Amino acid sequence: MTPKTALIVDDSRTARKLVRRALPDAWDVDIVEASGGREAITILKRLPVDVMFLDLTMPEVDGYTVLKWLRDHELSPIVIVVSGDLQPQAGARVMMLGAFEFVGKPIDSDKMHAVLELAGVL
Ligand SMILES: [Mg+2]
Repeated sequence: MTPKTALIVDDSRTARKLVRRALPDAWDVDIVEASGGREAITILKRLPVDVMFLDLTMPEVDGYTVLKWLRDHELSPIVIVVSGDLQPQAGARVMMLGAFEFVGKPIDSDKMHAVLELAGVL
């Protein structure tokens, strides 16, 4: 799949920047950012998103809620959860909710590239 649009969702501006930095330089996609789950859902309602980088811990609407919203609305972008919550149950829970993979913080860009390759979006 040749993705057109990627959405980075994180309540931390620095974290969003670090996600961008971990992406391959030559990756030709439009990158959109959201500073929380609510803004992400607003964007998802009007824009086809192919790949999503999703933080879990966010005020108001968290990453789990966004995953449930996607499922309820039968939208299936490739979701890569990027979170510092490294408890195994967090990983299991997001996979059960349809995430493609879990990448820990701090982000290892080699791991990120490998995940994107595995997802077939590079
Ligand atoms: Mg956060």
